[in-house]
Amino acid sequence: MRWSRYFIPTLREDPAEAEIVSHKFLLRGGYIRQVARGIYDYLPLGLRVIRKIESIVREELNAVGCHEVLLPVVIPAELWQESGRWPVYGKELLRLRDRNDREFCIGPTHEELITDIVRRDIRSYRDLPRNFYQIHTKFRDEIRPRFGLMRGREFIMKDGYSFHPSYKDLDDHYEVMRRAYIQIFARCGLATRVVEADSGPIGGTSSHEVVVLAETGEDAIVSCEQCEYAANMEKAETKIQRTEDRGQKTEKPKKLEKIHTPGMKSIEEVSKFLKSEPSQMIKTLIYLRDDGLVVALISGDREINEVKLKNAAKAQFVVLADEKTIRQLTNANVGFAGPVGLPKEVKGIGKVTVIADRGVEPIVNGNTGANETDYHLTGVCPGRDFHPEAYVDLAIVRENDSCPCCKNGKLKIQRGIEVGHIFKLGTKYSAAMKAHFLDEGGKEQPIIMGTYGIGIGRTAQAAIEQNYKEKGMVWPLPIAPFSVELISLSAEEEVRKTADQIYKELMDQKVDVLFDDREERAGVKFADGDLVGAPFQVLVGAKGLKEGKVELKNRKTGVVEKLSLRAVGEAISGLLCTPPSTPCGGLQTPSQTLLHQG
Ligand code: ATP
Ligand code: MG
Repeated sequence: MRWSRYFIPTLREDPAEAEIVSHKFLLRGGYIRQVARGIYDYLPLGLRVIRKIESIVREELNAVGCHEVLLPVVIPAELWQESGRWPVYGKELLRLRDRNDREFCIGPTHEELITDIVRRDIRSYRDLPRNFYQIHTKFRDEIRPRFGLMRGREFIMKDGYSFHPSYKDLDDHYEVMRRAYIQIFARCGLATRVVEADSGPIGGTSSHEVVVLAETGEDAIVSCEQCEYAANMEKAETKIQRTEDRGQKTEKPKKLEKIHTPGMKSIEEVSKFLKSEPSQMIKTLIYLRDDGLVVALISGDREINEVKLKNAAKAQFVVLADEKTIRQLTNANVGFAGPVGLPKEVKGIGKVTVIADRGVEPIVNGNTGANETDYHLTGVCPGRDFHPEAYVDLAIVRENDSCPCCKNGKLKIQRGIEVGHIFKLGTKYSAAMKAHFLDEGGKEQPIIMGTYGIGIGRTAQAAIEQNYKEKGMVWPLPIAPFSVELISLSAEEEVRKTADQIYKELMDQKVDVLFDDREERAGVKFADGDLVGAPFQVLVGAKGLKEGKVELKNRKTGVVEKLSLRAVGEAISGLLCTPPSTPCGGLQTPSQTLLHQG
């Protein structure tokens, strides 16, 4: 491609709207333009990157037996009503009406449509398993669209859905997909980590995210320094901390005692007053849920992970209760709640469920609110003075917590960008929408499903977060809009002619080359070249040509090699033939397929 005939509207200045490096370079390099909040144009360069990522995704998915489809963007409300999502999916869902006043939505994800296809044409276990995917524009009216393509409202996603006759078959296929995902991102030149993710109240490890580690990531990733354990913050666990582990002696249980603690509401104030550690405090937090209240107990030195709480309580949602509700439950001002003597139900609100973090169970002679304004209890013993419905893991993991999987490992927390998500769905949609099949015994069953997403635009941008220098990005070769940029450094006849010749040679070799043939100063071309971000540059200048040489620059390493004119073509094809790097290490090629094809 000749730059002079192409469209690369680079910008000299940093755009004010760009908060992170990758967003800045996409705008400055003329890759994208914002149309409205979270809605973008993909300009020619941007689309080239997107298309390259898409073809890697297609190759790897087709290789494991997935079938590409293309479903509508506009979805009739009836399908969403059938699945039960229409009334509960919040404001992220863009709803609209047609001229006949019929309701529709713009698909944020396509479980309903794909389930509708399958229920119409799949009858028997013999038709299973199947995996369908599409690469498609989604719309989610995100509350805080930001960082360019990272969190858009309209964005390109690969979404895929698999259908199975048994959980065993889903498990096998899930593993194939997990490996395909690792391979996809490795081929894109990204260093990723696969982490356990929250999978709702079902629990288990049936949801994983593929995460690009980057300082600017919105997600916190927890991993062990010694073993393979890795999870996102919502899911991450730590070893149960017993009293002894926390450096305290196990004591003999004392008598429960009520102490006057006037105006002392915070953990620190009360602990100081009682000359005790915050970890001896049984912190009591009151949440509203769909049909009542959840009282969450945790030791005073830790915080509640609300996703874990919601799952443990099997609640639709949990939100911290307001002052009035807290008073109704405890008969006391805020700051004096405790688990001892709480009612089982509150009139007009509903049932009260008490759930304790595992770290509360070993507490002996703890302190907690007395459910009376200005009073706390001491000598509190779980199991004697109160009985929660369950002791489960409710805590937010902290740096240096003990790994739940290995003996001595400590957990560390890093930032990351979620680029892919795989999830065992089970029968949520198939049961609601009656997508059934006849099993081998002739019995009708709901089909078992899995779902698999990749943010295509987010992947492109995450690649920049991992690969940039001060003045521009250095695209990983497999997804670079152009593999090589050829730059003629001056307008002299010989320079122009030689650059032209090299361009033709590279084009003949089918190299993805961008030829900056403009009549611009070398400085301008260098600055623009940094913003285009091709991994290699061939520089043709008058000085070099006097010795019959041009320069080949590896922008990632900064290494510049002088080449004779005859050697350019060969050197470039040598570079481009090197197999893609596999940053995750030890990856397998997706040659085998567990899907029955054919
Ligand atoms: P997030 O937690 O970041 O909102 P999600 O859990 O809602 O992601 P999924 O519904 O699993 O995401 O979507 C699959 C993939 O689509 C994600 O892994 C991500 O790469 C991408 N994605 C999701 N939301 C957006 C968005 N607003 N903009 C760009 N890509 C997105
Ligand atoms: Mg989301």
